[in-house]
Amino acid sequence: MKNYKIAVLSGDGIGPEVMAEAKKVLAAVTEKFKIGFEFNEQLVGGAAIDATHSTNSGQVGEPLPEATMQACEASDAILFGSVGGEKWNSLPPEKRPEVGALLPLRKKFDLFANIRPAGVSKVLAHSSPLKPEIIGDGFSFTVIRELTGDVYFGEKKRGTDFSSDLMIYRKAEVERIARVAFELAKNSKKKVTNVDKSNVLATSQFWRSVVEEIHQKEFPEIELEHLYIDNATMQILVRPQSFGVILTSNLFGDILSDEAAQISGSIGLQASASINSDKFGLYEPMGGSAPDIAGKGIANPIAQILSAAMLLEISLNEKEAAASIKGSVEKVLADGLRTADIFTGADGEQKVSTSEMGDAIVKNLS
Ligand code: NAD
Repeated sequence: MKNYKIAVLSGDGIGPEVMAEAKKVLAAVTEKFKIGFEFNEQLVGGAAIDATHSTNSGQVGEPLPEATMQACEASDAILFGSVGGEKWNSLPPEKRPEVGALLPLRKKFDLFANIRPAGVSKVLAHSSPLKPEIIGDGFSFTVIRELTGDVYFGEKKRGTDFSSDLMIYRKAEVERIARVAFELAKNSKKKVTNVDKSNVLATSQFWRSVVEEIHQKEFPEIELEHLYIDNATMQILVRPQSFGVILTSNLFGDILSDEAAQISGSIGLQASASINSDKFGLYEPMGGSAPDIAGKGIANPIAQILSAAMLLEISLNEKEAAASIKGSVEKVLADGLRTADIFTGADGEQKVSTSEMGDAIVKNLS
């Protein structure tokens, strides 16, 4: 039996609650598919700050302790919950759970490709702000956002009467993110939409030419479309079915991926991955620690469970098991099971708790 090491960082708020359900589903995968998992549970975020705080010296604790980083290094992938909360908001930025935990992990493992599936099925169409006639039978596409370049990391200047952020991409950076997008497109609609601003920006003209080069040389069988970012934000709202994989840079991806998340309904359903060239990755729900519902047993565990499915598919190449989890999630939603965030009271819906939703997904694994 294959045995994988997974670093499990549940974090704060609803993190541990929804992570318990994802682990339950992975345990069922072990039984059905004979794939073993060794979970290495480690502290992260506010929970780690509290546990490593020194009462003697008064020194603030660490959001990402050394033991956690070591466990991640020794693992095949990282399954991340969520971090943060009011209690730690007054800490200096680098000590805050979100900045102090996620950014060093991204940097350490060079997690340059952010992968965010978007979409809604027909049964959950009401949870999207898009009109039913636009949603039709549902839609699904994936946004690939470059995560380590662009204006966020270019040279920054601030004078008394000016400021600037350098927008910069190197060829190798564009090549590697383009490959992630084209590879992913092979498994879906065989279509990549590249989004840039090449009518204005030199960086975008360069980006587009590199994407075209990789396309022609390595993935000619994949359809490639180009859109300017301003047009893309509109097209996503009027023809969401037409997209397969959307490839874009860090700044534009920041905006587009949030737009895509918004039209996909509840944040409690949405998973994401950040991976490197070796397909090592960190998998996490798109939402945060949801302090408003933490501890009540009502959080939607589907985002965390689908994050585990992405981990199986991308980092472990266990596609059958991943498809089984996704199929089971679709089945329980089609059967009308709803956690509070997606419950409307319509006929055929049944309101369930976090753990009841996890149990149903386990039961429906095929
Ligand atoms: P949030 O995503 O935690 O919550 C926003 C809303 O969505 C809330 O009403 C919440 O109840 C709901 N929600 C989120 N996940 C849900 C789920 N699985 N099921 C049902 N409802 C769900 O965003 P926020 O309130 O702005 O932030 C709360 C804390 O989380 C902050 O400290 C923030 O910094 C942190 N945060 C962490 C991450 C991360 O760990 N990657 C991401 C975003 C925010």
